[in-house]
Amino acid sequence: MSRFLREKYMSMEPYTPGEQPQMKDLIKLNTNENPYPPSPKVISAILEGNTGDLLRYPDPEAKELVDAVAEYYGVSPKNVAVGNGSDEILAFVYMAFGEKVYFPSISYGFYPVFAETFMCDFEPIPLDDELKIVPDDYIGLDGTIILANPNAPTGMTLDPGAIEDIVKTNADHLVVIDEAYADFGTQSSIPLTEKYDNVLVVQTLSKSRSLAGMRIGLAIGPEEVIEDINKMKFSFNPYNLDRLAIRAGAAAIKDDEYFKKTRDMVIETRGWFTEKMRELGFTVLESKANFVFCKPDKISGTEYFEELRKRAVVVRHWDKDPIRDYVRITIGRDEDMQRLIEVTEEILCEKVK
Ligand SMILES: *Cc1c(COP(=O)(O)O)cnc(C)c1O
Repeated sequence: MSRFLREKYMSMEPYTPGEQPQMKDLIKLNTNENPYPPSPKVISAILEGNTGDLLRYPDPEAKELVDAVAEYYGVSPKNVAVGNGSDEILAFVYMAFGEKVYFPSISYGFYPVFAETFMCDFEPIPLDDELKIVPDDYIGLDGTIILANPNAPTGMTLDPGAIEDIVKTNADHLVVIDEAYADFGTQSSIPLTEKYDNVLVVQTLSKSRSLAGMRIGLAIGPEEVIEDINKMKFSFNPYNLDRLAIRAGAAAIKDDEYFKKTRDMVIETRGWFTEKMRELGFTVLESKANFVFCKPDKISGTEYFEELRKRAVVVRHWDKDPIRDYVRITIGRDEDMQRLIEVTEEILCEKVK
């Protein structure tokens, strides 16, 4: 730390991303990336697009992408904003609406970090003993509410009726639904954004569209809320999406057939993998995401995580209560999950006498 850092940032703990090991031959199931490549149409949009225009700044409105998203969801382009990943959209949310923020105590690790970065008052709300969000705890609060649906890292989904009740009973505050994983089997709250003026849905092309490396996030919501998001964007980084990202993102959204095919493959793998892990004695939470949150019954989560790592399988583990005994495993290709199961059998055999 230098002598020059602002005092309020001296004790700030930055977000720790899941490791991105650069070695080959590792089975990487730790950051919820899609195991399948982006649509071939995305690749041709990048490779065959005009490169002569790279000397010009990109379109600050990212119109090509905004229009594609609006058409896909049947909303007006005025209801759509785009960001450099949904992380940036969330940053805009905290900047614009972060006077006071509520979110679940176990959820996306960036929520409290953004609150520190943008100096927001915040209050994490505990989950119940089954690691579920308790919707009643979010009725009539006095600040912005941020809920990941499905939640991370549990993968569990909130009931659509429960979300609508939260929206209705917080009419004077914004309710933000982070749908990073909704494409893998959760009903979207986008229809609520047309019915209520206090809901914002945040999505990303990182997971279900296989574009984590391209950094594309979306916000869908009432026109005035989108205006506020764009006010933040134009006060921070108007060119937040580069030319390649705008083209690639639009191509990804338009190739719905490819999206559905790869999404269904992930869902199918999640199904058999969950069953198999339960047969091995694991508690596996009911996931609607492209990962499962599970705990072994005979060894600790920490030990399981470390033993997997020794065998070149990387998953995610948090050394904190009440999730220390769980690991989060991204759904990869069938052969990756098969390998993880073999390795798990090996570990259990060795460690459980
Ligand atoms: C992955 C993730 C994000 C961020 O995704 P980007 O890659 O920044 O678009 C946001 N929220 C949750 C819950 C996530 O898991």
